Amino acid sequence: MTDTERHEADVLVIGAGGAGLRAAIEARERGLRVAIVCKSLFGKAHTVMAEGGCAAAMGNVAEKDSWQVHFRDTMRGGKFLNSWRMAELHAQEAPDRVWELETWGALFDRTADGRIHQRNFGGHTYPRLAHVGDRTGLELIRTLQQRIVALQQADHAETGDHESRLRVFAECTVTELLTDGGAVAGAFGYWRESGRFVVFTAPAVVLATGGIGKSFQVTSNSWEYTGDGQALALRAGADLVDMEFVQFHPTGMVWPPSVKGILVTEGVRGDGGVLRNSRGERFMFGYVPDVFKGQYAQTEDEADRWYDDQDANRRTPDLLPRDEVARAINTEVKEGRGSKHGGVLLDIASRLPAEEIKRRLPSMYHQFKELADVDITAEPMEVGPTCHYVMGGIDVDPDTGATAVPGLFAAGECAGGMHGSNRLGGNSLSDLLVFGRRAGIGAADHVGGLAARGGRRPAVHDEDVDAAAELALAPFARAAGGVDEDGAAGENPYALHADLQRTMNDLVGIIRTEAEMTAALDRLAGLRARLRDVVVEGHRQYNPGWHLALDLRNMLMVGEAVASSALRRTESRGGHTRDDYPTLDARWRHRVLVTHTRTDGPADPVVPRVAVDVAERDPMRPDLFALFELEELEKYYTPAELTAHPEGGT
Ligand code: FAD
Repeated sequence: MTDTERHEADVLVIGAGGAGLRAAIEARERGLRVAIVCKSLFGKAHTVMAEGGCAAAMGNVAEKDSWQVHFRDTMRGGKFLNSWRMAELHAQEAPDRVWELETWGALFDRTADGRIHQRNFGGHTYPRLAHVGDRTGLELIRTLQQRIVALQQADHAETGDHESRLRVFAECTVTELLTDGGAVAGAFGYWRESGRFVVFTAPAVVLATGGIGKSFQVTSNSWEYTGDGQALALRAGADLVDMEFVQFHPTGMVWPPSVKGILVTEGVRGDGGVLRNSRGERFMFGYVPDVFKGQYAQTEDEADRWYDDQDANRRTPDLLPRDEVARAINTEVKEGRGSKHGGVLLDIASRLPAEEIKRRLPSMYHQFKELADVDITAEPMEVGPTCHYVMGGIDVDPDTGATAVPGLFAAGECAGGMHGSNRLGGNSLSDLLVFGRRAGIGAADHVGGLAARGGRRPAVHDEDVDAAAELALAPFARAAGGVDEDGAAGENPYALHADLQRTMNDLVGIIRTEAEMTAALDRLAGLRARLRDVVVEGHRQYNPGWHLALDLRNMLMVGEAVASSALRRTESRGGHTRDDYPTLDARWRHRVLVTHTRTDGPADPVVPRVAVDVAERDPMRPDLFALFELEELEKYYTPAELTAHPEGGT
């Protein structure tokens, strides 16, 4: 039996970004003992990197805004594939979640009359993003952490122990979920510093581990985004949905190579920045797709007037949803109108006074000055698409965040459904607050229900702990065994990672074809075989090569889910563009692709095989369906589906 450190909780939250912290706060406020585990330092999550803001229809800047308009924008952005129930809950509850943050001490930028300021962002009808300059995520995480400390202080006053109900385990990576008779029983992980193992037992686990960007070569994501939650959920028996939908943010840095992919916030365009090609043309006017015709300005004059008078003018196409802008940039570069280093130009220098740029976009100013030696108050930025966000994720119940595995919940970027085929900017921070809280309630209710029924808590079994330990140590065991029988020295995890990133970028990137994705799946099969031969040098104390070898299990599983789903969806929608099926297909609008682990064929414990099935999304509730004009829905729905609309279809 593996000798491990053990900790017990009622609710185990894996991930300390916005979703995890919000879930933890909720479960603790409901009286439960909560453990939070995160693989990075506490406070270092993607949420802290969020720049532009948090979308919520508070109506502070545009009084006409309402949850219904936000709901409509979100569904349009997702090309009507979203879980409409999640989009509804999100639009309704986001304002309360932002105001709640304020009561916990968040200091947002203000309007002249002292209300929370809201800025424009792509796809949002009204200025809707509550923000703190371009450092919104930092304030969000600071506030949630402060709330956690306040709760720990309250617990100390009552029990004499700060950690009696809320305990944080930082720099601790979970590698496996543990189950008992199909229900979640806890998790197995290791301390990044010492490499020693640790087991958490809990009857409810909330996954809040974020995205998958590190599977791609050019990405705005940092090292933690290796699809861990998605793979952990799959291995425990839950499903993923919509994994073909990966968002390429249109504006990442393209130069110098060392910073390629780092995000340039959409707030630059929200505050007046415009995209130009190498000829100086504002090319986005040529890329408004039919489904958005009539909603965007057709001339530069109208687009510029819109910044000052949004009632009398239509918005600039620079602020089309991200999938549209990313594809447009891709085309401009491909057709030879790109910038010197293979991007396009984003110009705010000629549009706002220097002091105003520095005031509104301080991080962008410093980012370009320090990393690229570009002064954005005097010259344009070079930008191009970067892998940014995954719309797909763990299949959850919209109201509770519950997965198909009893006791297992998920929230935030690792959960799927809410954003359909494409996420609107600003809708992630609000998503993780709304659904983080809901998953916290779901987990607390699950534990409460178990106790009320007098049910036995699921137990962690020693053989599962042994198996998880053996899998984790396999790369060292191979090293101890020396060279392979055929004389090969074993695979290097860094080389494998680079090959995976290249495969995903080149073959499952922004524009896809059947031949490329079939090739990608072949290459992924080769990488899966090579992973079995990965060898790491040294010992278990802080060993990044070993950590990467373990992360690769997850990245390969998730990469296969993305490529298999993308191959299956024979249309173009949102973040999934098929060169061989270039248009929206109404027959695919209501279909979701569900990834699960395969039970047929030989089992592969290192990277279990996945399969993809087609499932139907429930039809939208009639009162929500009636929020859209029939004319707009005709662009997305089949005639048969439209008969459910009050104006009736023919
Ligand atoms: P995260 O905040 O990433 O947290 C994940 C947590 O899980 C981390 O604590 C990590 O250590 C932990 N973890 C992961 N795997 C494991 C494991 N195996 N074991 C233990 N712990 C694990 N969205 C907006 O709405 N507005 C914006 O302005 C915006 N700007 C952005 C700017 C950048 C540069 C980036 C990268 C993203 C931006 N986004 C924005 C997207 C948004 O920030 C993320 O989608 C969101 O923060 C995800 O939050 P989360 O809580 O789901 O995950």
